[in-house]
Amino acid sequence: MPRPVCRRSICLCPRESVSYARMGRDIVRFRCHSCGHCCTDVVCLPTPWDVIRIVKNTGESPYEFLEFLGPDEISEVDDSDSTWLECGGHRYLMALKRGPHGCFFLDKGTRFCAIYEHRPILCRLYPFKLQETRDGKFKGFTLHSDVGCPRHRDGEVVTKPLFTLYRQDCGNQRDYDDLVRVFNRREYPGKQPSDFIGMFIEVK
Ligand code: SF4
Ligand code: SF4
Repeated sequence: MPRPVCRRSICLCPRESVSYARMGRDIVRFRCHSCGHCCTDVVCLPTPWDVIRIVKNTGESPYEFLEFLGPDEISEVDDSDSTWLECGGHRYLMALKRGPHGCFFLDKGTRFCAIYEHRPILCRLYPFKLQETRDGKFKGFTLHSDVGCPRHRDGEVVTKPLFTLYRQDCGNQRDYDDLVRVFNRREYPGKQPSDFIGMFIEVK
């Protein structure tokens, strides 16, 4: 059965024209109650920048913690998504590997993220959704209604750092798209989706 995905459908980058404005809301009401849903039932699709940060700070091999999922193994990603890797007539998306108990980085004992300080930007943005005014200005953040988070409203999260993260992810996404375009133009015998990793990080 396809697994739900936590990228694109959830965290779309803001348009370049959206800037953080004082008139936007400073806080969004939310508190994470650590239910674990987003680390067990949701697939995380990191950018290459996320992968580089994780490798640099944890020493983990990307060949161990990444997997490449075909269209039948993932849902809610458009066919037109720019990060589909093309290989041998098939398409794949780079994802954090998951096992029966959730994300590769979910600590089996504590049930918390073992790489919390270095986790992908997408994990930091979940389950927030950027809102714009009609004329394209920053309005605030709300909570996605269709991502499975129980969306407890008994806390306050400051929106400016969230906005900065959105911006950062937007730039990272552009670099990702450029790399995928180059990868997809390459054709050679034995091409594997995992060859993509070697385009942005060298593992000794
Ligand atoms: S990297 Fe950490 S926060 Fe992100 S899905 Fe995995 S365990 Fe959860
Ligand atoms: S689904 Fe929501 S409440 Fe549950 S761990 Fe994730 S962010 Fe926290």
